Amino acid sequence: MSKKLPEYGTINVPTERGVPFGAITPAPVVQQDLFVTSNWRIVRPVIDNDTCTRCLTCYIACPDSCWAYDDKNDEMVWNWKFCKGCQICIHQCPAEALSPVAELDFPDGVHRLEKPF
Ligand code: SF4
Ligand code: SF4
Repeated sequence: MSKKLPEYGTINVPTERGVPFGAITPAPVVQQDLFVTSNWRIVRPVIDNDTCTRCLTCYIACPDSCWAYDDKNDEMVWNWKFCKGCQICIHQCPAEALSPVAELDFPDGVHRLEKPF
């Protein structure tokens, strides 16, 4: 089952600003709770573990490092605190294992901070 992805144009990135192929940005070692951004989210990515192939594309694609592989349970785990619901992982998942589900469909939906930034 292959998903047809839209074609995008390219931009010329100056060499000095290029990112080496295969580079990754590690998640922060210490989570900074003052920077919890999950209350931006209107949809959350929901995973179908039976469909997921553990290809790690979502881990690479998420700009906020919200996906990680749990090798004990052999499953991808999602960090709800920093997911903004941008849906990049959903669009990039080659197995179509991720679906956008409205945040208000969850009993704990739309996490609100006790105080604004
Ligand atoms: S991109 Fe999709 S198939 Fe790959 S690990 Fe993430 S959810 Fe699973
Ligand atoms: S919806 Fe965006 S922020 Fe949330 S896990 Fe997917 S890529 Fe990361």
